[in-house]
Amino acid sequence: MSSLVKTSPFFLYFTKIPWVFPCQNTLRASLQTYSCRSIVFSKNILKYSCNSYFPIHTVRYLCNVASAATSSVHASSTPSSNKGSYKLRKKLMKKDSRDAPENVLRYKLDMCSKYGQVVKALELYDEARSDGVQLILHHYNVLLYLCSSPSLLETSGANNLLSVVLSRGLEIYQQMITDKVSPNEATFTSLARIAGAMDDPEMAFSLVKQMEDYHIAPRLRSYGPALFGFCRKLMPEGAYEVDSHMLASAVEPEEPELSALLKLSSDVKRADKVYELLHRLRRTVRQVSEPTAKVIEDWFNSESASEVGKKHWDVDKVREGIVRRGGGWHGEGWLGSGKWRLVRTGIDDNGVCHSCAQKLVCIDIDPKETEDFASSLTKLANQRVKDNFGKFRVWLEKHGPFDAVIDGANVGIENDHFSFIQLKRAVYRMRELSPSKKMPLIILHTRRVTEGPARYPNNMKLIEIWKNCGALYATPYTSNDDWYWLYAAVRFKCLLLTNDEMRDHLFQLLGNTFFPQWKEKHQVRWSISRNGLKLHMPPPYSIVIQESENGSLHIPTTTGDDIETPKQWLCVTRPTNTSKSGFE
Ligand SMILES: [Zn+2]
Repeated sequence: MSSLVKTSPFFLYFTKIPWVFPCQNTLRASLQTYSCRSIVFSKNILKYSCNSYFPIHTVRYLCNVASAATSSVHASSTPSSNKGSYKLRKKLMKKDSRDAPENVLRYKLDMCSKYGQVVKALELYDEARSDGVQLILHHYNVLLYLCSSPSLLETSGANNLLSVVLSRGLEIYQQMITDKVSPNEATFTSLARIAGAMDDPEMAFSLVKQMEDYHIAPRLRSYGPALFGFCRKLMPEGAYEVDSHMLASAVEPEEPELSALLKLSSDVKRADKVYELLHRLRRTVRQVSEPTAKVIEDWFNSESASEVGKKHWDVDKVREGIVRRGGGWHGEGWLGSGKWRLVRTGIDDNGVCHSCAQKLVCIDIDPKETEDFASSLTKLANQRVKDNFGKFRVWLEKHGPFDAVIDGANVGIENDHFSFIQLKRAVYRMRELSPSKKMPLIILHTRRVTEGPARYPNNMKLIEIWKNCGALYATPYTSNDDWYWLYAAVRFKCLLLTNDEMRDHLFQLLGNTFFPQWKEKHQVRWSISRNGLKLHMPPPYSIVIQESENGSLHIPTTTGDDIETPKQWLCVTRPTNTSKSGFE
């Protein structure tokens, strides 16, 4: 642990407390607490009697008495009356369990969590402590979560309470340790947030490191308070150490983390780190959001950026680097000299930049990654769709392969109505695009081929024709047809016609590393113009941060990302010596 951490005023909270939690002792301690209360507060005994304080036969007796009093009809000891009294006993026991003080406290704390009532939660905690209620992990985690959410206090206009609440969070944690309640990931993440809100990133980082001692795997959220704290306080060494720790723990930073590191590196003039982080953004995020684009613009507009770069370089080596890295990036560092020129621009249909006229490249997707993606999709679809999916796969083997798949429900929608005419146009346009003029595969829900417009004679005829030539598959009532069209398009490595941006829950299961790349290469979108249906083919270039062999960069932003508004790119160029040759 770094000496920096040891100087933290809160260090003792997290290091001097023994971390041994034998469960039996905890249980014994809790029973002792209740036994004492049984003698002193006799009223409470009655209230909490039917669960833990009386032997089970006493409980049965009490419940039978209650049963007899309320059920004169079943007074005789017939099997049905036994059954009835058993049910009543269960009901009473359930009610008593609900009324148990720890369960009442749990419910009340959950309500505080739901409505963000941190002050009320602290009052409940104090009350429970003075009443001797035994708190478990859930109680502590809710309390720590509330104490670690200072935004709740800010919105309630109680800024002066902030420091009090944060300190109380630490005090509650200390009590948790005294009570020998074992922490989990949520506990540590809340504590790291408390440390973060106290502007103590060293403490937040030390907590993440401690998670390993308890075999708790840190998550991306666990690192946030430390990483953002170091970045905010312009402490590059701390931030880079957190970054290395994340990589070593197989936690992949996402855009907010990479963007914060990029801003820090830019602010402290670490040009090498800025270069490295742009590459990491390229690899994991591919296209940047507006806040990150602003950070990148600030860097290229800075004096430090205009000062870095090789005036001369080995052209062959740079070209070789681009080939070795699969295209779109050479990785040889900053090239060129002088001020950078920044323009927000667009890219035409052929991949040529509107501003500098450079042509962007198309980076092939890795065949191995495609295969892995296809098998994980098959596994997920089989789990979600179950038996029906097996039938679909058999059907595909019989009628495939296809050059294109159509998401019929999406393509047939015209002004909120389903139009077979529109779908038919799309089907025959896609057939024209096929090298062998093969019919595309149309996926439609059974409802669409049996109900509503499907009953009109012309449409019935059309459905019949498509079915007979093995181009139409009707998905069962109980299944989500998204699985079918996506699976078929991935299975046949073919085009997929849909305007569905594939961002909902189902598609999130596929992850955000490979799926966006697959989509970019295979999705055909459509629009309706005065000239009828227009198809928008996948771009002949890759929508990813690209570095060209003269050192210029093209950075796609997420601004404008549909058919009407073309994607906005950041074109970054600088004057270069065109007579460059094989030396630095
Ligand atoms: Zn350009």
